Amino acid sequence: MSNNSHTAILDLFNATRSMSPPDSDTSGVSTGSEISEAALPGNGNMSPTIDLLKALGLQSDIPMQRQVGHGMQQQPLYNDFSMSADLFASRPWTSLNTLFSTSATDPYSIERAAKLYRNAATISEPTCTWSGQLPMKIYRNPVYSFKVFLGGVPWDITEAGLQSCFRSFGALKIEWPGKDGKHPRYPIKGKELPVGYVYILFESERSVRSLLQACTHDFSNGGEYYFKISSKRMRSKEVQVIPWIISDSNYVKSPSQRLEPQKTVFVGALHGMLNAEGLAHILNDLFGNVVYAGIDTDKHKYPIGSGRVTFSSHKSYVKAVTAAFVEIKTAKFTKKIQIDPYLEESQCNVCQKEHGVYFCRDFNCFLYYCRSCWQTYHSSDNTRYHKPLMRNNKSSAKCCPVVELPPV
Ligand SMILES: [Zn+2]
Ligand SMILES: [Zn+2]
Repeated sequence: MSNNSHTAILDLFNATRSMSPPDSDTSGVSTGSEISEAALPGNGNMSPTIDLLKALGLQSDIPMQRQVGHGMQQQPLYNDFSMSADLFASRPWTSLNTLFSTSATDPYSIERAAKLYRNAATISEPTCTWSGQLPMKIYRNPVYSFKVFLGGVPWDITEAGLQSCFRSFGALKIEWPGKDGKHPRYPIKGKELPVGYVYILFESERSVRSLLQACTHDFSNGGEYYFKISSKRMRSKEVQVIPWIISDSNYVKSPSQRLEPQKTVFVGALHGMLNAEGLAHILNDLFGNVVYAGIDTDKHKYPIGSGRVTFSSHKSYVKAVTAAFVEIKTAKFTKKIQIDPYLEESQCNVCQKEHGVYFCRDFNCFLYYCRSCWQTYHSSDNTRYHKPLMRNNKSSAKCCPVVELPPV
């Protein structure tokens, strides 16, 4: 692979990473949604997907039009990666595997592979699919995060425009991912191109409640909230409002159960409407013995697109790690999630001296490694494509948080 190709991939993933939940406490969508969004016609910049494909030598027959408008009306946000996944599905997996290979001569190859793998849901085939209905919950006294997500905002809306649409509900700030120019869709100078979604950060919970009361609540479609706003070019555009109920971040099945990090998986690329109970429900259906699920949140207690699930049995844990990519189909959304071992702070399991920065998720290893031990043990043809994982130091999520349990 040429240097250019590497750069293209790195650029893509850096761009993606800058938006991705673990790196930022301001964005609440799962990693990589930018890719598919940017690739949608009419959004101006198609290059990220193209770059990756080019880098992989796959750009020749891109069926760009195939996914046009697919589900966009109902799911303008948290786009899954169906498009890129489709493209890759027909290609041999081996060409993808080379992306993750690490090399003893390239000191950055392990980090690079680990970063790529963190976003691998974009390009990986699901090993299984769960489809069904998520448990419906009746809330007696829901407490909301002050932050809400707005999906499908008019492309020409300005920050001032948004302020005037929502000011009546109370003082607020707009969090506009990509407004800082880091976003791949912002290179066009002098043009304000919103990314299609924003967050509203209210100063009080009461504002969230009044906004929700002013929304139409579509129960037939999984209880989604819609609110109409207007911009210069678009009259009464319906935008989706996604609030978050704070108690939805944790789900404990059996309070007496000890939660062991060794039986905990990290789940990435979560959909923003999936709560902890739903996540537990799905993984319990698929692998059994779920005792806890937690959704990672930012400082506003709003989800950041990842979570953790703890099993009571090692067997269920292994099944989940083996599955790695699972497609979830519900009435509300379809989304491919990524499952990895939950990593702890650890020494290198080989030399027992250095910090075990890398974890090999291949079951033949399944160990923490320091850099030099990784290189020593991953230089043969059999081991070169083992996927390295890295702990996310910026993530404040603990595997087994102190959970406030309801009185028994
Ligand atoms: Zn070591
Ligand atoms: Zn390995």
